[in-house]
Formats: sequence, C-alpha cells, structure tokens
Amino acid sequence: MALIVQKYGGTSVGDAERIKRVAERVVGAADSGQRICIVVSAMGHTTDELMELASQITPEPFGRELDMLLTAGERISMALLTMAINELGRRAISFTGSQAGIVTDTTHGRARIVDVRARRVLEALEAGNIVIVAGFQGVSTEFDITTLGRGGSDTTAVALAAALHADACEIYTDVEGVFTADPRLVPEARKLHAVSYEEMLELSASGAKVLMLRSVEYARNYKVLTHVRSSFSDNEGTWVREEDERMERAIISAVAHDTSEAKVSILGVPDRPGIASHVFRPLADEGVNIDMIVQNVAADGRTDISFTLPKEDLRRAEPVLDQVRGRVGARGVETDPDIAKVSLVGAGMKTHPGVAADMFDALADAGINIDIISTSSIRVSCVVRANEVAGAVRAIHEKFHLAEEAVIREAHPATVTGQLRALNPEGTAPGGGL
Ligand code: ASP
Ligand code: MG
Repeated sequence: MALIVQKYGGTSVGDAERIKRVAERVVGAADSGQRICIVVSAMGHTTDELMELASQITPEPFGRELDMLLTAGERISMALLTMAINELGRRAISFTGSQAGIVTDTTHGRARIVDVRARRVLEALEAGNIVIVAGFQGVSTEFDITTLGRGGSDTTAVALAAALHADACEIYTDVEGVFTADPRLVPEARKLHAVSYEEMLELSASGAKVLMLRSVEYARNYKVLTHVRSSFSDNEGTWVREEDERMERAIISAVAHDTSEAKVSILGVPDRPGIASHVFRPLADEGVNIDMIVQNVAADGRTDISFTLPKEDLRRAEPVLDQVRGRVGARGVETDPDIAKVSLVGAGMKTHPGVAADMFDALADAGINIDIISTSSIRVSCVVRANEVAGAVRAIHEKFHLAEEAVIREAHPATVTGQLRALNPEGTAPGGGL
C-alpha cells in the first residue's frame, strides 16, 4: 500500500473552516487506499504572533523557552486537524515532534535533525490510523524541545518521508508550485513542471521561499520525491526530483530574488596572508552565515573586502566586526542593508556558455548597476540596489523568455524531438533559444 507524507502550511490550516477542508482532502487520499502521514504548520501567523508576545516580555528570550513557546503553534493545528478527521468518522492520532521521534541537535531556534525514530508513527499507521505530526519541532539529544528554524515544517515532512520510505512527500501550500519567478513581481511567470534537487537547492538558497533550504538538502540526500502543490486546488504542482531524461531539460529554470541580506564592506584591509581568515573565522564562530564574498585588487598594500549576510545576523555580527577591524588594522567598516540579490538558476548552464553574459546584458539594458557577482555551476547571482530588484527580475525573466515554454538544452536529436512533442503537443517549436 502506498505511503504518502503530506505537509500543510500555515495558510492551508489558517482557520477552522480551512482545517475542515484539509481534513476532507486527507480523508479523500486515505479513501483512495493510501496510508497517510500528515505534517502541519502553525495556523496562519501564529508563529509570528507568539514571537511578538515573547518580545513584549523580554528582548532576548532564552532559546529553550522560546522553542517551548513556538512549538505550541503546531500543537494547536495538529490537535484540531486530528479532531476534524475524527469528525469525518476516521481514526486519526496526533504526535508532537518529540513523540514522532524527531531527534535534533541542541541548537535552539535552528536545530538540525540528527535522527528520525519513526517506530511509533509506523505502528500507528499500521494500526490503520491517519497520523498527524506537529511540524517544525523535535527533541534534542539533551531531551529539550527544539525548533528547526522558520519554515521548518517542510523539513519535518521530508525527513519523515525519508524515514518512513514514503512513496512521495506532498508539500501543500498557498501557491500552485515553483514558478519561473515570483508571480507578484512577474505576473506572466510560469509554473514549472519539475526541477532537479540541485536546482531547487540553489533556488531556496537564493530566496525562493516555497521550500525551506534544509528540506531540499534532505530530499536530495535521501532521494525523497517531493511534490509542491496548492491545497486550494487539485492541480498538479511542481515535482522536485532527480534530474532524468524525461525532464524539461531547460537551460534556465527560474530567477529568484532575495531582499533579506545586507552588505558589509571592510575598507582598507592590509593585504597580507591570513587576513581573510582573521575576518571570517570570528564571524563563523559567532554562527554568522556569510554568502557572497569579494575582495578587491590591492592598491598601496590595502584592499577592501565585501560580503553579504542575512540582515537578521547583523546585530550579532556588528561587535565581531568591530573587533576584527581593530585586530587587522582596517580603515573602517560599512554596512548597507538596502541591497537585494537576483539569481538565475538552471542545470543547463553547466554546458551552455554565454548565460552570465546574457544576464548582465539584461541588467545593463534596464540601466541596473551590479554591485557583486557570484556564480556556481548552475547559478549566477548579482547584488543590486534593493529598489531595483523588481525591475531586475523582470528584465532577466524577459531576456530568457521564461514565460514561454522551456528553452531546450542540446541533446540527441531523437530526444529533442521527443521533448518538443511532449512540451508542445501542437507541434510548434517552443520559444526562446540561446
Ligand atoms: N510555523 C513555523 C514558521 O512559521 C514553521 C513552518 O511554518 O514551517 O516558520
Ligand atoms: Mg513554508
């Protein structure tokens, strides 16, 4: 019998009516003969509201107590959904993350899952129950309650799917899937049928919020077939899976953007061996996540080092940067929160030259200045001014014709014909082409 893990996000369980609708969907899936394990997020904005409540008590709550508080959000939705399923005459049972065997490290607020002991969930499923698990939480190796970081219910779902050897993990959300760009910025953005784990990793790391980055890492490591889809329709969403012959094989999949980072420049750093390590080791020790780094060519024996980091890490980084400046004898430190990052992602970039140049052309034609550039084998990212990010996303989306059908990568002629037909039953050639 097939086993499916379904995860429902906060909007999908936003009020009692919606919870009842989710219950109907779940029962429908169970009636079709599948075993179902559900993971839920907290209702609507509950997590934000609980954080706000804590901040009215203290500006710096202890991680342990904040986690204790925040995990209550998912408990509420898991209990209510279980009741709603019971109301429909089906047997269901809820478990907290801890009861479900989600074991994490001891880092409060962003714990990592180290083990999933799914025996209890399995037994409940085998006894004919629909199982509901509270997302976003676990129990640490020190037996304290932990949370997995914002968006962490995705990770709970994928980790459970891996441990249960589920046939698929369905992530139900308030959008129809993964799009070629954020539809709020680009109304003509197209829903992707499938993306590879590698592409989704780059997209999540570049600001696409549809899946938490860590859940994609998990999906890739354990080959969990993941389906991102809307809980408000029956439409097929986007499959996140291993790259294979049947995939669209687009050169470019999507353009993502991220406004959550800030830029820091350390000015006039003496140019000698060991400087980068003197700058970045203390930041790493403080748990600050550095993203892009550029170091300028040295003039008169001094150089500037710029990098980006999450805005939320700035407060922790500032005292460290102050010490670093003194220690390395830099001339100054500048912070700039008004930046944004646009990233172009596509597996076909690996074998297709000229993509970066086309992206820079698009930005140049739109009169948008690029501050920092970084690349991976399947991604090009540019830092631009925050107020230019919407224009940048649109210009790049347009340049690569992402609203049209996928741009096909070179392949054996037979495969290409097959793909063209699959993509475009009418027989017209898909648009684009590089
Ligand atoms: N409720 C948590 C959050 O708002 C976890 C989740 O929704 O995935 O971040
Ligand atoms: Mg989410």
